[in-house]
Amino acid sequence: MEEENIVNGDRPRDLVFPGTAGLQLYQSLYKYSYITDGIIDAHTNEVISYAQIFETSCRLAVSLEKYGLDHNNVVAICSENNIHFFGPLIAALYQGIPMATSNDMYTEREMIGHLNISKPCLMFCSKKSLPFILKVQKHLDFLKKVIVIDSMYDINGVECVFSFVSRYTDHAFDPVKFNPKEFDPLERTALIMTSSGTTGLPKGVVISHRSITIRFVHSSDPIYGTRIAPDTSILAIAPFHHAFGLFTALAYFPVGLKIVMVKKFEGEFFLKTIQNYKIASIVVPPPIMVYLAKSPLVDEYNLSSLTEIACGGSPLGRDIADKVAKRLKVHGILQGYGLTETCSALILSPNDRELKKGAIGTPMPYVQVKVIDINTGKALGPREKGEICFKSQMLMKGYHNNPQATRDALDKDGWLHTGDLGYYDEDRFIYVVDRLKELIKYKGYQVAPAELENLLLQHPNISDAGVIGIPDEFAGQLPSACVVLEPGKTMTEKEVQDYIAELVTTTKHLRGGVVFIDSIPKGPTGKLMRNELRAIFAREQAKS
Ligand code: AMP
Repeated sequence: MEEENIVNGDRPRDLVFPGTAGLQLYQSLYKYSYITDGIIDAHTNEVISYAQIFETSCRLAVSLEKYGLDHNNVVAICSENNIHFFGPLIAALYQGIPMATSNDMYTEREMIGHLNISKPCLMFCSKKSLPFILKVQKHLDFLKKVIVIDSMYDINGVECVFSFVSRYTDHAFDPVKFNPKEFDPLERTALIMTSSGTTGLPKGVVISHRSITIRFVHSSDPIYGTRIAPDTSILAIAPFHHAFGLFTALAYFPVGLKIVMVKKFEGEFFLKTIQNYKIASIVVPPPIMVYLAKSPLVDEYNLSSLTEIACGGSPLGRDIADKVAKRLKVHGILQGYGLTETCSALILSPNDRELKKGAIGTPMPYVQVKVIDINTGKALGPREKGEICFKSQMLMKGYHNNPQATRDALDKDGWLHTGDLGYYDEDRFIYVVDRLKELIKYKGYQVAPAELENLLLQHPNISDAGVIGIPDEFAGQLPSACVVLEPGKTMTEKEVQDYIAELVTTTKHLRGGVVFIDSIPKGPTGKLMRNELRAIFAREQAKS
């Protein structure tokens, strides 16, 4: 029986590539091998061409196989945004070797926990991350080899890509004769990304080759895809290790864009890069939109090359979107909504209709949406609020080696329960109104309260703790904590903040502050009552 109240995505205008993501990328890199400015590092002006990425990825693919790796192994990559990031990643996709992406800003404790999920035997890393990775490697017996992606020379005995591929391929190697492996794109793991999901600690999100090829069909869709032509410049600023940065940037290859890359957001440098490289399109998280709406510096640069601005990762206020559109004379700001678990955005503002006020867009082709009653699970009709759920081949296959977490997120019929609250209207526009899940988003980065609460509870002076996100115009939310001290113990706010800052990456620091209270409000089952905690936090902070 057909389910009622399902919102279908647009009718597909294009077929999904039938093969693997690796094969599609191979064909795209070959097709656009005339593009000499494939990826440009805006900091150094260093450039690599599509042809170079094509050759390096093919040589690396052969070398990984000859080194002895196949789809039963996992490889990883840890680097700041780097023009050499995609060669190894695409090589792994050619061979069907799962690749895990690692946040280069992790602390040692976080990196060890993260790598223990996917257990890679080989890690690609940048020169900058190398000392850190070598330190971490001492704690991980499964991590046998490290390769540096952005050096022409070996560093203290650690091979660079050039040495590694020279061992297995010679100067007569012809990438055109290389054949990416064939396998079932729906079954085989392409990437293992990191997400805390709707609850708890970080997990490995298993993305299939089919998820990526649907992302590719979206990026060339006339209604939802980029409107800029091949060989024009797009700015990549979101981190490549994160789903937002990775799936947007990877999808530029099949449409033949010039990728101008920056390592992180620095206001003036960002504006200068748009001006100097005549950037036509940017995809940014909301804090950069706030900057574009408000910073007086914006008027000092010529940003007239911009024809397309897209925003995603966290909620974007309509007034900010309108201000940016008006200030930069761009018709409408594209918005996208998605999760790491959905590979990328699956709701986007369509370019053939005006985005309705408060909506984020309509479901794209190959996606189904329903909104369920949070108590009964029943699929609701238009304008009824409930949990947003998705079904699509674009969804993750599950969490790596974590069947329980997978069952909690993906139900038996294959619907992903997002933990986001929203509704749809008669015209299939989707509205996200709140987050049911506990996840905090700081500048688009995930902060899982459970992770910080576990750490706080490990401190000898702390007997109980609750972590919440408090609203912030620029960052979206700031992680903040309510702490109960052990009897007779004292701690200052700064001591608690410093303790957490030692253990976790900077995006998870308790920037919103810490208040000390007598007890953490909990429901009858012991579940922390976050709404009450938010009210207590606000009250206590107002006192101080
Ligand atoms: P991540 O897996 O880090 O991409 O986080 C996914 C979560 O970010 C979603 O479940 C939403 O809570 C939030 N999110 C992403 N995009 C949007 C958006 N456009 N509007 C509102 N929330 C968003």
